Amino acid sequence: MELKNKRVLVVGLGKSGMAAALFLRDKGARVTVSDSRSALALAKDIPTLLDAGIMVEAGGHGLLTFRRQDLIVVSPGVPFDTAELKQVRAFGLPIIGELELASRFLQGQIVAITGSNGKTTTTSLVGKIFADAGRDTLVGGNIGVPVIELIEKNSVGTINVLEVSSFQLETVDQFHPHIAVVLNITPDHLDRHGTFKNYAAMKTRITEQQTAADFLVLNGEDPPTQMVAAKTKAQIFWFSGRRQIKQGAFVHGESVLFIPREGAKPEPVMPVVEITLRGAHNVENVLAAVCAARLGGIESESIRTSVASFKAVEHRLEFLANVLGVEFYNDSKATNVDATKKALEAFTGCVHLILGGKDKNSDYAELSDLIRARVKTVYTIGSAAQKIERQLAGVVKIVSAGTLGTAVAKAAEAAVAGDVVLLAPACSSFDQFESYEHRGRIFKGLVKGLAAGGVAK
Ligand code: ADP
Repeated sequence: MELKNKRVLVVGLGKSGMAAALFLRDKGARVTVSDSRSALALAKDIPTLLDAGIMVEAGGHGLLTFRRQDLIVVSPGVPFDTAELKQVRAFGLPIIGELELASRFLQGQIVAITGSNGKTTTTSLVGKIFADAGRDTLVGGNIGVPVIELIEKNSVGTINVLEVSSFQLETVDQFHPHIAVVLNITPDHLDRHGTFKNYAAMKTRITEQQTAADFLVLNGEDPPTQMVAAKTKAQIFWFSGRRQIKQGAFVHGESVLFIPREGAKPEPVMPVVEITLRGAHNVENVLAAVCAARLGGIESESIRTSVASFKAVEHRLEFLANVLGVEFYNDSKATNVDATKKALEAFTGCVHLILGGKDKNSDYAELSDLIRARVKTVYTIGSAAQKIERQLAGVVKIVSAGTLGTAVAKAAEAAVAGDVVLLAPACSSFDQFESYEHRGRIFKGLVKGLAAGGVAK
């Protein structure tokens, strides 16, 4: 891809937009950045851009700025159909995303992982498996490291393990992973993609450029992934936690097995008990990772060691401490009802559940059955508290805690040895915290305090 003297516009100045602008400039392009936020909001980044000879348009997008370009690079946070983008698309201007741009410069192979839930966990695990086996491995994408930042460290032997979101897939064109994984497709981001069909169709783009020499790993228990299977030219490998599949990874009895090709004898990979992550959903993530790793040439014994020593990614059903027999788990990333369901399914009972935060128009009554079966007390926090209390009235004992600090203190006071205190709030964090990470860190601090001063009951 020749960029020298090309006029390129980067739309949206997030982490990946910034990385894209500097990269393009480095390649000799004439770069402009356009962001709808004010110059004041962008003040931190503007000097770096100007120093690099990059023009900046802040506080809105000018149609003329868009029209005079040879190429437009949009950030994942920018809606695909803004008035400006619609117009330039009609003029036939190429519009791509940072993932597409970066992947054209990656020399090594790409392992790309998408899905509605579990992307970060699976991407980290796959990265660890390849790295532990001594392969030159880089991890990036939606996980927080722009793919562009991987380019300078790439060589032909590099394995690039990329977490890919549906937003990033909207703007791919020649993106070509050697191994693609679709973990699951459940309704999400419908505000952006319109219908579930559109959203699911976006996920199929991960395999659009794949050929018969490539691999596609799919969830055998998730019907919408069949739509991806129907579209691919790649060799399909399935994973299932429930039954034997023809080709791929599955659980049989107490073991994880892998079938490398249809008709072949299943190879043992590892005992299920060695998976330290909690919950059936995490077993699915492990099975997907096993497929990707075996297809990438990693031996089962090495996969087994890596999986057994893999700890949950921070804020994803992360075990924190056992204080006088009470276990504390941080699932601050459970920002919707479905993720909270998955968290509850990972415990058999005796849970003290902290729920609440900023409501996303969710129906908390959907949690009733699981709460009735597995939860001793719900502690509500944040602005969604009253709605949660109303919707769960009569299901379980509810304590209005208000803040996370009070919730932890009250839960710790009530819990007895054998109980679990779980933060899986089913809400976003923005009413009381900066982000789910911030909420998780505060929770961890509170639990650390308890662990340091644990009082016998
Ligand atoms: P993503 O990067 O896709 O958001 P994460 O690994 O960060 O995925 O997990 C997000 C939330 O979804 C967490 O609460 C986690 O416990 C839950 N989760 C993880 N894997 C799965 C899965 N395979 N199916 C459903 N929920 C999952």
